[in-house]
Amino acid sequence: MIDQITIEEENKDIVRRYKTLLRSCNSEITREDKKLIRKAFNLAVEAHKDVRRKSGEPYIFHPIAVAQIAAKDLGLDATSIACALLHDVVEDTHYTLKDIEKIFSPKIRKIIDGLTKISGFSEQDISAQAENFRKMLLTLSDDVRVILIKLADRLHNMQTLDSMPRQKQQKIGSETLYIYAPLAHRLGLYSVKTELEDLGLKFTEPEIYRDIARQLNETKNARVQYIQRFTKPLKASLKDHHLLFSIKGRPKSIYSIRKKMKNQGVSFDEVYDKFAIRIILDSELRNEKSDCWKTYSLITDYYRPNPDRLRDWISTPKANGYESLHTTVMGPGGKWVEVQVRTERMDEIAEKGYAAHWKYKQAGKHKDGNLEDWINQIRELLKNPESNAIDFLEEFKLNLFSKEIFVFTPNGDLRTLPKGASALDFAFDIHTQLGATCLGCKVNGKIVPLSHKLKSGDQVEVISSQKQKPKKSWLNFVVTARAKNKIKSSLKDEKKRIAEDGKEILQRKLKHIKLPFDDNTINKLVNYFKYKSSLDLFYDVGTGVFNNMMIKDFARNRNNWYQYLKNKIYKKTTKNLVVHEEPKFDTLVFGANEEKLNYAYSKCCSPIPGDDVFGFTTIKDGIKIHRQDCPNALRLQSNFAYRILETKWIDSTNNQSVAILHIKGIDSVGLINEVTQILSNNLKINIQSINISSSDGVFDGIITVLVLDKKNLTIVIENIKKVKGITSISRKFKSS
Ligand code: MN
Repeated sequence: MIDQITIEEENKDIVRRYKTLLRSCNSEITREDKKLIRKAFNLAVEAHKDVRRKSGEPYIFHPIAVAQIAAKDLGLDATSIACALLHDVVEDTHYTLKDIEKIFSPKIRKIIDGLTKISGFSEQDISAQAENFRKMLLTLSDDVRVILIKLADRLHNMQTLDSMPRQKQQKIGSETLYIYAPLAHRLGLYSVKTELEDLGLKFTEPEIYRDIARQLNETKNARVQYIQRFTKPLKASLKDHHLLFSIKGRPKSIYSIRKKMKNQGVSFDEVYDKFAIRIILDSELRNEKSDCWKTYSLITDYYRPNPDRLRDWISTPKANGYESLHTTVMGPGGKWVEVQVRTERMDEIAEKGYAAHWKYKQAGKHKDGNLEDWINQIRELLKNPESNAIDFLEEFKLNLFSKEIFVFTPNGDLRTLPKGASALDFAFDIHTQLGATCLGCKVNGKIVPLSHKLKSGDQVEVISSQKQKPKKSWLNFVVTARAKNKIKSSLKDEKKRIAEDGKEILQRKLKHIKLPFDDNTINKLVNYFKYKSSLDLFYDVGTGVFNNMMIKDFARNRNNWYQYLKNKIYKKTTKNLVVHEEPKFDTLVFGANEEKLNYAYSKCCSPIPGDDVFGFTTIKDGIKIHRQDCPNALRLQSNFAYRILETKWIDSTNNQSVAILHIKGIDSVGLINEVTQILSNNLKINIQSINISSSDGVFDGIITVLVLDKKNLTIVIENIKKVKGITSISRKFKSS
């Protein structure tokens, strides 16, 4: 139990914190502003009373701390500070958005709404986070304040993460490194970014973090001494030249040292730039540039610069507003030392980002207008990252408008794809097999073709069919190397496979006309029909493009009349002896794709149409058909399983015909998938097209299928009817 004295002390503490917050606000804060902040504070205190954080502190400490970061570190306006104070009110208490609008304003309601939408990260699983992340990105264009307050919220949560269980620390920590630190970087909030990164590392890799922190501490004295030795002549020289300055020797962040160790595969001792010297000049705005370069020149009087490592972000500031001059010079003892030269104004921008930028740039204008300007600037910045500093962009993973897009699986998992990626790229990104059998995709609930270009925030579901195969035309719209390679290699495999079949067919065909199957004959055939290679010839035989007429033509033109006629006679006399010498392609089909291949009945069991049979690929005689109860069946199937072909009898008098089905139902996730599964996997029905439109959770679709007969169609209809969510199915005469 918390006794009365503690409560009183706590209340005093709350007031103390509130006063500190007010002091952190911009000096230009008006009485109106103060009134607004006070009102927000009072409501927050009342709403969160009796609630405590995991650490045992009163809950209100948290919103005050977030408001403090918003005011002090980010330099935000009174509206933002009020929103920071209120940021958890709608989420955690009985107050509604409507209440907020009534008590405050529609604008504040909107910001709180945005904050509420993207809160709850830590409470949900990874997939829900991704969904929230999407919402967060989508709110970017709404009001950047939402993102800034969210960053402040996250920073404070990270600062107080110690009291959370280990597992949560891990999760929140990695989320911070993945989402929030890059976001802070993008907005030019360097100090926030650095703190988020260090805290992120602390909670994701605690041992490594502690190790580096300890080593930094152990080497501190040596470092301070070195910095003194390094800066001593510089200080004297700068003074001689009447420059006003301060010099800091700053250790690099633990996170950046960790990154260097990892990227370069080196130990702590081997990271040479564990600190940077920063020279901050107190310069008049008009002298800034020349003062910085003068300083650079003075540094190089003492230390030799590495010309490859000169960075001039003064002439060309980074996209987020960062201005500074960086050089790396050879210091005492043969050590490379990074020196950053900038003015106080530049330093503040570097630390606080555009918040400070705006302060300098727009000084004099009406204050509220200034913040709007600043927000617009950030918005522009987010829209036009190409303006400069490409290197900076590459680091930014989350940019909606750069080279990457972010899309979601039906489970809410985040996938990164290059800009311009199609639905098919997505399918290949998930899994090669899924890409290879992709029929179409459902993007945000709507069926789209494979070539559909995806946008950030899209939720994509792949519709696949085992009957689908990679097509050459697919190469026209995939952009990822992965998809391209997989399609190409699959096309190549397919060609090889067909060519192999073709080779066997050709072998048989040649045998019938008594020509040897050897290199000589093959070469002659290749030359005669102007093929590029024997592979192309075999492929055409396999696909049936190269037919009996052509081979006869070849035989005839070889002037081998005798041979040819002899073959004719042989063929005629033996026709009735050799079963299926002129194979009937339309009686048996093979494999999952029901391909029509050349085959013959085996003599050992003499099957007849309708028998339960299987195909066996022989080495010399192509595909032989055996009965399932053939004496050899068991031996063949157990020893040569890979040569067994699945077979199916098809009625040659009854070709497949088109049937158009109109289905209606409740639009549930996976429903279309289920329907296509049933059609192609269970019933082995060929789908010709699917056209689905859905609105308000109801969908309406036309599926065109190929069926054998009425009976077949009835089975199809009966099976689709059983799918949960389907409300009606009927046959149509025309697809439109
Ligand atoms: Mn919060």
